[in-house]
Amino acid sequence: MEQDLKKAGLMLKEKGIRQSQPRLMLLDLLTREYGHFSAEELYESLRDAAPALSKTTVYNTLEHFVQAGLVRRLTIRQGEALYEAARPVHAHFICERCSRIVDVPMDMDALLGQVPSGYEILRKEVYFRGVCPQCDKR
Ligand SMILES: [Zn+2]
Ligand SMILES: [Zn+2]
Repeated sequence: MEQDLKKAGLMLKEKGIRQSQPRLMLLDLLTREYGHFSAEELYESLRDAAPALSKTTVYNTLEHFVQAGLVRRLTIRQGEALYEAARPVHAHFICERCSRIVDVPMDMDALLGQVPSGYEILRKEVYFRGVCPQCDKR
């Protein structure tokens, strides 16, 4: 745990972001689990360890991280943003039955090369929808 917070601290320092307990804890959680979380889920996960943490702080901190390029915001789930630690660009597979989200490696540069010139890309998200192996067995 101590070690993880140190890593999160270095990431903040690299981006010139002042360290604070909520920032360290959020970044640590996002980088340690390598999952895809809603702000609500992150808030719930940290509530026991940081009872003073407000939902607003979680939202604001996540936005701050997105602006700084530490975290990516995804819109794959209808009506709810999900956040993941920035890592090499990948596509996502979302299971329509259990909502599980899995990273799918992809060559984003090759795909971007197919976009006709003159079209300005504002967001880059690629995803597949289907049924995961666990759900398929049922
Ligand atoms: Zn599933
Ligand atoms: Zn992902």
